[in-house]
Amino acid sequence: MIAGNYRGSEGRVLRVIPRRNRLVVEGINRRTKHERPSQKNPEGGIVTFEAPIEASNVMLVCPHCSTGSRIRIKRDPDGTVERLCVRCDNPIPTPES
Ligand SMILES: [Zn+2]
Repeated sequence: MIAGNYRGSEGRVLRVIPRRNRLVVEGINRRTKHERPSQKNPEGGIVTFEAPIEASNVMLVCPHCSTGSRIRIKRDPDGTVERLCVRCDNPIPTPES
């Protein structure tokens, strides 16, 4: 996170909402909701969940230099696409979902 209340904290991206330029990050922007008993949640009560945040407020953390960094897309002649860290030039693997 590079802005807002959670500036400086890190988390795993759980969900991406490209149409609204938002994403959901684990442990970030937790909200509590008071819910009535329902079929899904027969007890009701207080539910915590992560609310989506604006994509411009986050930065990818490079595993090699462990700072938030921008990435460069590199296309190999054989068609594979790699993400390279602009700081250290190391490829950043895309985690399997
Ligand atoms: Zn790096």
